[in-house]
Amino acid sequence: MTTPEMEPEVEPRIRAAVDALFDREVAFLSELTAHPSTRGNEQSAQDFMAREMGDRGLSVDRWQIDLDDIRDMPGFSPVIGDYEDAVNVVGTHASRRRTGRSLILNGHIDVVPEGPHDMWDSPPFSPRVDGGWMYGRGAGDMKAGLAANIFALDALREIGLAPGADVHVQSVVEEECTGNGALACLQRGYRADAVLIPEPFNETLVTAQVGVIWFQVHLKGVPAHVAYAGSGANAIEAAMPLITALHAMEERWNGAERRHGDYGHVDHPLNLNIGRIQGGDWTSSVPAWCVFDVRMGVFPGQNLAEARREIEEVLRAAAQDSDFLRNNQPEIVYHGFMAEGYALSQDRSTAARDAIGALGGAHERVTGRALDTAAITATTDARFFGLYADTPALVYGPRAEAIHGFNERVDLESLRRLTQTTALFIAEWCGLEDA
Ligand SMILES: [Zn+2]
Repeated sequence: MTTPEMEPEVEPRIRAAVDALFDREVAFLSELTAHPSTRGNEQSAQDFMAREMGDRGLSVDRWQIDLDDIRDMPGFSPVIGDYEDAVNVVGTHASRRRTGRSLILNGHIDVVPEGPHDMWDSPPFSPRVDGGWMYGRGAGDMKAGLAANIFALDALREIGLAPGADVHVQSVVEEECTGNGALACLQRGYRADAVLIPEPFNETLVTAQVGVIWFQVHLKGVPAHVAYAGSGANAIEAAMPLITALHAMEERWNGAERRHGDYGHVDHPLNLNIGRIQGGDWTSSVPAWCVFDVRMGVFPGQNLAEARREIEEVLRAAAQDSDFLRNNQPEIVYHGFMAEGYALSQDRSTAARDAIGALGGAHERVTGRALDTAAITATTDARFFGLYADTPALVYGPRAEAIHGFNERVDLESLRRLTQTTALFIAEWCGLEDA
């Protein structure tokens, strides 16, 4: 849709405005990345986002998530404890004319733990720019995307324009462990005709994402002095055959006959990760307990209840072969992601087709290349909008490296292109009106 204001000369003006503001955008990203917004510590980063949105004239909605509001909604992931430290921020541009299609620009503020600082070349929360990259935990995943969402709107305002439809800029918590932050935005009533989530997938449109299940396996038994320990009566060693059995399940789930259509070319789409293990109390005592945390992927359309049953059956069967476990059945606790897969490629709606077309056109004009697509082996918050709000959710963001790793970094020229593409996408999708 092209409104009268979307004249041919407006496009170069929008791109020039992104360029004119780009130093400020990099400074914004640097300040945002300096907030160590790991889970439970997002408040100062959210304060910053709320202030920046308010300064720009967006109406700011800042609220604490209440578990009781969302626990019965589809897509909810179980958590231990409450949410007294989980705050979402949404800034809304209310269009005066509402002639275009509305949009949610979503991003998550939480970052994964940075790990040992001596594995980084420079401190993870002291962002630095080197060779065109900004380094820092969260710079790529996904504070660059949050910056692009804000500065795409800034570029329009810089030349006296605003979206011709309502735009909600969301900064949510909990993307890296449950997605309950995005779910809480749905519960609060935020809806739009399309969603853009600039997760760092190298300026490629994500057409399918896997689901993710997190669970803990608790093993407990009677402790003994090491002198009397028979083999297999050790809670830590008992974990080993269970892990082997889970990996065998992983191979079955990746088998050709269970492959989802979007993942035909992906070598090993569903990954099982043993992410943490704890156990035992003393070097010369046979460990009485062990807990390990598992992440497992599922395909779009794969039923989560059936997946859970299969996981439990695999663990039960493996326990029958262990002297320790036969008498001490493993206990499974679901804590964190209980996320279905989502495939934008399956969305046959006009809105999906038009939104992908508008993004593809903007991408092509900015980069000179056709828009590539990919099925990814991770999850994003896109599933909430696509599965539970009937809204096409486009995941498209900058080029980044070592996300979740050491020396995480984002390509700043890629961020500039993303911001231009986002601004052109907004102009096309929402139309334009005078600011
Ligand atoms: Zn992310």
